[in-house]
Amino acid sequence: MTTTSPGLDHAAGRLPSPPFTAEHEELRAAIRGWIEREVRPHVQAWEDAKWVPTAVFRRLGELGYTALAYPTALGGQGGDHVHEAVWAQEIGRGSSGGIAAALGAPTTIATPPIVKFGTPAQQERWVGPVLRGERVAALAITEPGTGSDVAGIQTRAERVDGGFVVNGEKSFITGGVRAQHYVTAVKTTNDGGHGGISFLVVERGEHPGVEHEDDPAALGADRGDGISASPLEKLGWHASDTALVSFRDVFVPEDHLLGELDGGFKLIMANFQWERLSMALGAVAAMEAVLEQTTAFVAERRAFGRRVADFQGTRWALAEMATTIEASRALTYETLRKHVAGIPVIQEVTMAKLMTQRALVEICDRGLQLHGGAGYMKEQGIERALRDARLGPIGGGTDEIMKDVLGRMMGL
Ligand SMILES: Cc1cc2nc3c(=O)[nH]c(=O)nc-3n(C[C@H](O)[C@H](O)[C@H](O)COP(=O)(O)OP(=O)(O)OC[C@H]3O[C@@H](n4cnc5c(N)ncnc54)[C@H](O)[C@@H]3O)c2cc1C
Repeated sequence: MTTTSPGLDHAAGRLPSPPFTAEHEELRAAIRGWIEREVRPHVQAWEDAKWVPTAVFRRLGELGYTALAYPTALGGQGGDHVHEAVWAQEIGRGSSGGIAAALGAPTTIATPPIVKFGTPAQQERWVGPVLRGERVAALAITEPGTGSDVAGIQTRAERVDGGFVVNGEKSFITGGVRAQHYVTAVKTTNDGGHGGISFLVVERGEHPGVEHEDDPAALGADRGDGISASPLEKLGWHASDTALVSFRDVFVPEDHLLGELDGGFKLIMANFQWERLSMALGAVAAMEAVLEQTTAFVAERRAFGRRVADFQGTRWALAEMATTIEASRALTYETLRKHVAGIPVIQEVTMAKLMTQRALVEICDRGLQLHGGAGYMKEQGIERALRDARLGPIGGGTDEIMKDVLGRMMGL
């Protein structure tokens, strides 16, 4: 297809948009090639199975694509957030929301707190194995009773000899069935505010074995460790296991406390910026893919003796979609440039997350409409893109919370 803006199609050999350089474009080509060969052919099967095979995590561990920004001392590739941005974009455009979430969550949201706040012993134990794809980690903050209002969590960790005993439930946990450890927010005081939250790394009991590594029932069952996890049915993100996780009198040793006791709120806040920026990057790339697919479709499809692309209304729709994408990219790339330059970007990240997640829903809907009935069918993949996109304005902080953050930054 002909693209409407520089950089819309990275594969077309255009000059990369800063902060991406030729080196990043080489990485992009390698990741895109892997996704085309080893992921895309299986997307529908993994969506239908509601599961990404565990072997894919190990393969990714060998390739190192989810370890790009981690220091080499911890088993990472020693790159930076621009390298990681390439991964976020390529998995965002080339697979499905569920696959991107399943493969990305262990390293994008569950492991950064261990790098930032963990002791060397904790890093040794919980970073390398996740980067190598030998272990899967999940971040467990949300509960059935509270999500946006983090201070309202009810999961409690009572002090006992040598550690803590944890009781409570966590909901909507990405990778919750498969995870071998949960980076878990718990209440450690009766303080009603942000002050009484701590983080514990809660490990599952002995793994049921390689023969059960793709058996959600066996993985989710209580292994005598007081932990059970059950998958939740949802609108989109089918390939990602999203679980309700229960902790019943789970003993957690003292040295599994991450960061300071009662200092967990800081840890939650530290995680948000990159999570939200990588969601924005993934959305920009996913929007580009929808535009490309839709443009190709309307150039072929005929109605009333003409190509659908020849109707002025179609051209206007595509022009508006391209403009939305360009504006989303401009804000997101500018945010990334500032972030890698070490400039605080809470405002920009919040705006980029808010703008791109809604924009992706709109672009998928308009793209589906231009496909007519074919868009409603599974074969084109655009109905899945629309269902997957709907998570964006909710996950990682809702649109309303983004607007609230911005309003407060405006002194309102
Ligand atoms: C597929 C999926 C995967 C997820 N993965 C994870 C994960 O791995 N780990 C994890 O911990 N969590 C995860 N989440 C949870 C996610 O972060 C929360 O769903 C999200 O933060 C919103 O919380 P909530 O669902 O409790 O909604 P609520 O907080 O109950 O919000 C309900 C509605 O009220 C609005 N609202 C709330 N507060 C305000 C306010 N102050 N002003 C205006 N409106 C407000 C919200 O915007 C929303 O519209 C996942 C969620 C989904 C759907």
